[in-house]
Amino acid sequence: MFNDKVKATFYSLLLSILIVSNISAEDKDIYRLIFGEIIYNSEAYSNLRELSDDIGGRVSGTEAGYRAERWALQKFTSYGLHNPHFERFEMPGWKRGSLTVEVLTPGKKILSAVALANTPSKAKITDQIIDAGFGHPDEFAELGENIKGKIVLAEVGTLPGERSVHRTEKVELATRYGATGFVLITNAPGNLPRTGTCKVGGYADIPAISVSSEHGTWLRRYLKDHPDVEMKINMKNKTGMTHANNIVAEIIGTEKPDEIVIVGAHLDSWELGQGTIDNGVGSVSLLETARVLSLLGAKPKRTIRFILFMGEEFGLYGSKAYVKQHSSELENIVMMLNMDMVGDPYSFNSYGHEEALPFLKKLAADLQGFGISKDKVTNKAGLHSDHQSFTLAGVPAMSLRSTLDESMWRYYHSAGDTFDKASETYLNNAASIAATTLLRIANAEERVGRFYSDDEIRDMLIEHGLKEPLSLTGYWRWKD
Ligand SMILES: [Zn+2]
Repeated sequence: MFNDKVKATFYSLLLSILIVSNISAEDKDIYRLIFGEIIYNSEAYSNLRELSDDIGGRVSGTEAGYRAERWALQKFTSYGLHNPHFERFEMPGWKRGSLTVEVLTPGKKILSAVALANTPSKAKITDQIIDAGFGHPDEFAELGENIKGKIVLAEVGTLPGERSVHRTEKVELATRYGATGFVLITNAPGNLPRTGTCKVGGYADIPAISVSSEHGTWLRRYLKDHPDVEMKINMKNKTGMTHANNIVAEIIGTEKPDEIVIVGAHLDSWELGQGTIDNGVGSVSLLETARVLSLLGAKPKRTIRFILFMGEEFGLYGSKAYVKQHSSELENIVMMLNMDMVGDPYSFNSYGHEEALPFLKKLAADLQGFGISKDKVTNKAGLHSDHQSFTLAGVPAMSLRSTLDESMWRYYHSAGDTFDKASETYLNNAASIAATTLLRIANAEERVGRFYSDDEIRDMLIEHGLKEPLSLTGYWRWKD
């Protein structure tokens, strides 16, 4: 999308360079410079290569995780951000050990499988299997007592027209119905099982694994003719408390330094692949945003705070710790922009704070020339990335709505999430739109989002259909 704009932007870039000493006073010039600087000098793609190839999969609390933290801190420092630092937190750690999964057919079929994270340190079971479809709560209710003592088989996704059901909910339901194990069928072809956490806030009571789409759908066919066949799961993992560090840096506001606009992305990833799409892309887009705003001498009225979270993949531990450690300043957070698996941006989503919509629609209209649509601005609360920690605390949060190609997202959490899947154009587009968005929010006359009271948070979550999933994963703190 930039190619159409290159000439015009280059021209305005030249003009702006002539008055570079005044850019901090002239917002319109810095907005023009953002796009020009990113077109010509972006480090997003080379940073993504470093993060993917030199560091690779970076599980929180492992040596690779700590290397990634130091790498990010060094980037913030070299870009001249204010006060780059670590904010340490403790969390339950988990390290993948050995796993064998066998279906006891006459030939003993070995399945292509990986353990889900936060599974027990040791488990060895041999039991019958019961097919629970998508593992929607209604499907569990229908099977009821039949689940007891069996291994639940369910696929990624949900019943047609129903809300999405996260794997942590499916494992929780299987456990509550008395299952001895849980098998999740991956929904993308290529013999690539996907990992991911199966329990938030601790460890699951039952072994939970993911099998490839091909082996899972075979098992489903086989079960139809052989309902009594048994599966043997043998797993060993390492569990125990560990620590990780959120990486934080700022550009201090000139007029309202105590009011803060946060941009966050999780830096941690799974280790089967290189964590390029989940979430190298968000991490390096955030770093590029920081680089360009710092380099161009942006002087926002409010403070812009850049945070690379760790611990997201295990259950949002980094952002939860952040919200807890900063409880006294939550009311002053004007907006939290979360960048998780961002593709090519086309609009904005507000996570349940409808008061932010007029501003976001105006901003989208102003960015129409860069493919941002005001008609596609949405207000939809959601879970399972770091914005959730802020939403649950009453802080307005948003994301860039973006296109992530099937050839990119299908590999997330699997061995296929590697650097070759990345798009340089998408990274630069995301960084340009994010930088503009942050600056506009930081400079807005009125606060873009409003801090919600506890009752307002509850009502909004109910309205957005999130009470059931939050209850199942232990987050619902209200009585009704
Ligand atoms: Zn992610």
